[in-house]
Amino acid sequence: MSESASEFRSKQTRTSEISQIKLRVPLRIVLGSKTRIRDFYLLYTIYMNDCIFCKIVKKEVPANIVYEDEKYLAFLDIHPQSPGHTLVIPKEHYRFVWDVPNVGEYFEVAKKIALAQQKAFETKSIISKIVGEEVHHAHIWLIPNRDEAKGDKNDFPTNAEKIKSNL
Ligand SMILES: [Zn+2]
Repeated sequence: MSESASEFRSKQTRTSEISQIKLRVPLRIVLGSKTRIRDFYLLYTIYMNDCIFCKIVKKEVPANIVYEDEKYLAFLDIHPQSPGHTLVIPKEHYRFVWDVPNVGEYFEVAKKIALAQQKAFETKSIISKIVGEEVHHAHIWLIPNRDEAKGDKNDFPTNAEKIKSNL
């Protein structure tokens, strides 16, 4: 391994460690002094750049978008558990769903999509989950019941179109 590659890898490791550490440090401790505030912004920037959902919001990473407004975005999960499996996210980066201001408004958007999924995949049963693992950007899972939902879960363009036309 060349020196620059090894340097790069150690930088990558450090970045991911810093992201992990940042999540565990309470804000009031991080913001304890001016130096810490500067560190906080540095960590925040590093973390933001790592976030795949922020990249989807900025359209830097492609996704099958089914809904978009000023504050929220919904797109098909890339590893669907059933036809039309959708993730609903705030456009702004929040770690958890419960960090999102006006969370009621966020849930109204999720409801709109769930009702569209009911019609699109011919099932009343939309499995809805808030987990908060894997990607560290708030997201609500909306998964049409795999035993009932009609369609091919891997036919992304058709499933996205079906949801959009039922919104
Ligand atoms: Zn993000």
